[in-house]
Amino acid sequence: MRALQYRQIGAAPEVVEVDTPEPGPGQVLLKVTAAGACHSDEFVMSLPAEQYVYGLPLTLGHEGVGTVAALGDGVDGLSVGESVAVYGPWGCGTCAACARGAENYCTRAAELGIRPPGLGAPGSMAEYMLVDDARHLVPLGDLDPVASVSLTDAGLTPYHAIKTSLPKLGAGSTAVVIGTGGLGHVGIQVLKAITGATVVALDVNEEKLALAREVGADHAFLSNDDAVASVKELTGGLGANAVFDFVDAQPTVDLGAKMLATEADWSIVGIGRGVASYPAMGLPFDVAVRRPYWGTRAELIEVLDLARAGKVSVEYETFSLDEGPLVYERMHAGTIRGRGVVVPNA
Ligand code: NAD
Ligand code: ZN
Ligand code: ZN
Repeated sequence: MRALQYRQIGAAPEVVEVDTPEPGPGQVLLKVTAAGACHSDEFVMSLPAEQYVYGLPLTLGHEGVGTVAALGDGVDGLSVGESVAVYGPWGCGTCAACARGAENYCTRAAELGIRPPGLGAPGSMAEYMLVDDARHLVPLGDLDPVASVSLTDAGLTPYHAIKTSLPKLGAGSTAVVIGTGGLGHVGIQVLKAITGATVVALDVNEEKLALAREVGADHAFLSNDDAVASVKELTGGLGANAVFDFVDAQPTVDLGAKMLATEADWSIVGIGRGVASYPAMGLPFDVAVRRPYWGTRAELIEVLDLARAGKVSVEYETFSLDEGPLVYERMHAGTIRGRGVVVPNA
């Protein structure tokens, strides 16, 4: 089969021929319908050799949907041909975090060498992919798989960040979304769907701000120091009750810190290189800094339900597997509207 692999530190990913995997006991083989490209892939491919821990070659893709192609021994509850989404943050399944469905916070994954697909295990940017356990699959039912694939990360990650900040986001509250790309444009919709917050979107790119307005942001401003004054003005001088930073660059971390209200949640969701360094007295009282990661299995089911209810959808552009390297070039150039989605078996 063909797969998009990152093969050499610093080089662009390439489409190569690899063996089609076969499912071992407990595993499920999917014929991949769609695979989303996340900015985290670009981050991983930007790491120098001494910080790179994902193995080479690495088949990319940690957002995946497919149809069940074959079941390993002992797998039941799934049928061949069924359309499913992959829950990506694989954990051990038995620690206390996994027991409550929070495999994203598995306490034993590192020790057991369990890695998510596309971030250590072979990912979804291939004609077929192996899923290590049927519990990491959620039926898609009648959801369009190509339109839904990015709900597994660009939907699930903001949903988890927002859901755990719900106590801060009642009627009359204000939430700021910094970075309205793949994650951010879904985050805006989740905020509108499940909170009472007024949503302020910030980005450096006017086209992304236009998308933010289209998907429901109440206000959208260029991400610069003027935005601090705008947020203060909108909130009667109080600041935002939650800031979701989907970038984590030094300018966004510096900006977020200046717009927090007393008791605000400051959620740094982006995986970048921003440094938050403040004297404790420099932040409003009771600000909580959060660094959420992906989401729980239950939350993935909830996000898919939100999409089924028509309350959240992903803007996306499709690419063939051969165009896989182009997705990352376009992401780097900031020219993808919403998410780039690879359709490997088109
Ligand atoms: P993306 O490229 O689709 O979107 C990034 C957006 O940020 C773009 O719209 C871009 O214009 C904007 N931006 C860039 N610099 C900015 C700045 N200085 N100020 C304001 N906006 C700026 O990326 P994505 O796939 O949505 O991922 C967003 C971030 O979230 C990445 O850092 C990614 O690694 C991270 N991520 C984290 C998790 C997690 O679990 N914590 C999960 C997925 C992705
Ligand atoms: Zn991701
Ligand atoms: Zn676990």
